[in-house]
Amino acid sequence: MEIILLIFLLLLGACIGSFLNVVIWRLPRGESIVFPGSHCPSCGRGIRWYDNIPILSWLLLKGRCRFCKVSISPRYLAVEAITALLVGGLYACYYLLDIRDAVGPVGDTWPMYAAHAALLCGLLACSLVDIEHWIVPLEVCWVVSLLGLAAAAADPPSAQVLPRVSSSTAAMACGAVLGLLVSVILQRYGLIQASFLDAQERVVTEPAPQAKGRKGKKGKKKGAALEQARRITAVAITRESGVNVRMEILREVLFLLPAFGLAVAAWVLVTEVAPIRSAWLSLVEPGRGGYVARHLGGLFGAIFGYLIGGLWIWGMRILGTLAFGKEAMGMGDVHILAAVGAVTGWVVPSLAFFIAPFFGLLWALYLWVGRRQRELPYGPWLACGSLVVMLFYDAIYAFVQPLFVVWAGR
Ligand SMILES: [Zn+2]
Repeated sequence: MEIILLIFLLLLGACIGSFLNVVIWRLPRGESIVFPGSHCPSCGRGIRWYDNIPILSWLLLKGRCRFCKVSISPRYLAVEAITALLVGGLYACYYLLDIRDAVGPVGDTWPMYAAHAALLCGLLACSLVDIEHWIVPLEVCWVVSLLGLAAAAADPPSAQVLPRVSSSTAAMACGAVLGLLVSVILQRYGLIQASFLDAQERVVTEPAPQAKGRKGKKGKKKGAALEQARRITAVAITRESGVNVRMEILREVLFLLPAFGLAVAAWVLVTEVAPIRSAWLSLVEPGRGGYVARHLGGLFGAIFGYLIGGLWIWGMRILGTLAFGKEAMGMGDVHILAAVGAVTGWVVPSLAFFIAPFFGLLWALYLWVGRRQRELPYGPWLACGSLVVMLFYDAIYAFVQPLFVVWAGR
């Protein structure tokens, strides 16, 4: 039975990998993921369903298009195989090899497993796009984060798999989320200005010049939007020239102020104001809140993980940029580690944050030994660090637990 499930998950992983190939190619190019269907990038002919079977079709067609015989990159095959290994391998590690304590049987904990597997797939997609284009597809991070929150709320795993937070920390997390929403709304209505390097405003492909040739109001508007996109790209590339980097990063500090303010306010409310305190405790304390408290406990654990994961990188980005007067870390990395936290709680991204630089160091060493020149973005190292911490969580956590008593109390 277990072997049948493993084989099924390997096949499912290959299919997900096939979908990831579409995401990796289309998202950074601003194309729709759903429409049109798969087609050969060279001759543009649609790919038949029997030529679209993950892994197998590539091998049968010997890596060539059926019609124009142009070779198809082996990367498609590699992504499908790696995704199959990630999805199937995670199942094997958690349920067959029992490398993590307290995971429980698959029948009870499959939402947790599904969220963890989705995280690994998302990290793979983000890493590959990041390596190729130096941007992170934020949509992928958002989808993974929502899946993590939903899984944690629907079926909270044991506290060893998803660390819980105290009731006052949960209140702070809620305040912070509220503050972030306030900032997002203020920014949308132009009351606070986005900083210069907001990742979602970066565009990869240069807009096609013939789009401007079309006449009419709509075409003009589109032309203006494209012009704007081109300008932002230029800013991103030549950020050293004429942009006050420290002033720009202060915009991000301003963006975060409501979150910190409301977090402190929420903490004061639930610790100092007696009626609010008792109402809050009757809702979230496991002894008193009962059924609802169990699900809220999982949700708060995931929300706190999302915030802490993002805060490590964003804090580093702000401090580093202020210190060196040069952009340190990208906003995409903030979203990556936030997604890791939303799925696994606050401990995994915190450990991954400190482990990731070692992977970067190994790469630098490899470049130095091989006398090569190939700089890589930071996202893939965060992904590697997260994967290692997820698998060897028990051993690493036992080793560093004494450092982490701050939030573990109560
Ligand atoms: Zn073709």
